[in-house]
Amino acid sequence: MKIEQIQNNFIDFNGRLPNIKINDTRQIPHLKCAICGKEMLTFNEFQATLNKTLLGANKFLKSKELESYQSQNVFAMLVDLAKHHPKTPISILIQDPKFQKNIKKLSIQEQKTLNDIIELSKTKTKNSKQVIKQLLKLQPLFDKNMQEVISILEVYSLRYPDQTFSEILHKPEIIKYHKENVKIESLKYKTLQNKAQRNFLSIAKHLHLEELHNFNTLYTNILKIITIPHSTNQVRFEMLLNTFEKYKRVATNLDPKILKKISTAIQKFPIENFSTSQKILSMVSKNDANIIENLLSYLQVSFEHVIPKSRQGSKDKGNGICLHMICNKNRGVLPYTLINRIYPDFQSNLQKQINTVISYIKGGRLLTYEEYPQQIKKTMLYATHQNIRINIKKYLKYQAQKAKQKLEKEQQNLTLRSEKLEKTKQEINQAEVLLNQLKEKIQLLRQKEHNDIIKYKQAKTNCFNMKNEYQKTLKAIKKDK
Ligand SMILES: [Zn+2]
Repeated sequence: MKIEQIQNNFIDFNGRLPNIKINDTRQIPHLKCAICGKEMLTFNEFQATLNKTLLGANKFLKSKELESYQSQNVFAMLVDLAKHHPKTPISILIQDPKFQKNIKKLSIQEQKTLNDIIELSKTKTKNSKQVIKQLLKLQPLFDKNMQEVISILEVYSLRYPDQTFSEILHKPEIIKYHKENVKIESLKYKTLQNKAQRNFLSIAKHLHLEELHNFNTLYTNILKIITIPHSTNQVRFEMLLNTFEKYKRVATNLDPKILKKISTAIQKFPIENFSTSQKILSMVSKNDANIIENLLSYLQVSFEHVIPKSRQGSKDKGNGICLHMICNKNRGVLPYTLINRIYPDFQSNLQKQINTVISYIKGGRLLTYEEYPQQIKKTMLYATHQNIRINIKKYLKYQAQKAKQKLEKEQQNLTLRSEKLEKTKQEINQAEVLLNQLKEKIQLLRQKEHNDIIKYKQAKTNCFNMKNEYQKTLKAIKKDK
């Protein structure tokens, strides 16, 4: 039973959301990326998906690489553990508290052996036929290029269903095929680039000597832009336009016809296409699980510093939005004004993300974020020179409403307290009256007591006198006899 509990600790994002409290926006399930608008994977979702692709304990323990361990005590322990949950990965099974207790009793050498086996189990996935099922579920969340990579993996899974992806991608014929592809693509690109470069430089003959300096600067900038690593094509294209705008501002005396020529020549610079084959090749050296991890990492959520760290942006949540790791990498330190032009949906995607965050704050499921909507709005305004305005009117109204409710509650409390205080005061007054009456009564009683004492003493004296008189009479009787 415990194993199911451990598995359930990872949120199953196909099911209903458990009502848990979180304190980081990166833990919000199904949150959509502010740049591309597609769903991201939280760390738990990432781990849960990865676990679904890992090899089950039973099959793993039968793998050839474990033959040398088979005679050992720890191996027998694992076989025993796998009996009830043969399809669950070893790395999950060992989290069973009872098993954890037993581990502590093992010798250091045995613990080391166990660790080696567990680490090995984390690198082993199911065969391609089973793994592709998990990947296809997530395929719509990837960008077009990565969707293409997954489609190729699907083809391989049909061709070699019983092998793992790392076995498939290590096949010499597959490596050879993709290497050829990369070569052809790169040749094509280089040819286009050379042509564009020649075309661009040919404009120089129409320019006056004093115009050549600016033209050369423009050319150097273009070469820089088209060779920036980790940048998307759209970003590069926008940067080319940007650098041309700058050029136009300095080259004021230029003939409009030549300017048009330059603009056309710039647009002919090829943008290197993302190479699916290159991506496939980059996966080859990795083990089974690494391939899946690498693919899933494209979907993983990350904290994006709106004002980059390199520009004194703070680490506070108020300077952050959530982006795919890959979208974060592509953004780099590009200003958001540019991002807004490259991704026309950026503003609405960002708004959607903030709305989701707000719904979590309102539902009391996201703690310590009450001030976040105001903060991120301010950050975004600052970072975009007032261009991107997040709408938080409803949230502010909600906050005002909440503050009003709190005030009303406190006012009610105040009235209640003042009433209670008044009542107690009255009670004190009543008690004081009573006390005074009692004091008067005591006074009277004291007087009465005083009189009684006098009367008592008088009576005592009288009694003494009477006794004497009586005895005197008795003596007189005796004498009279
Ligand atoms: Zn994204």
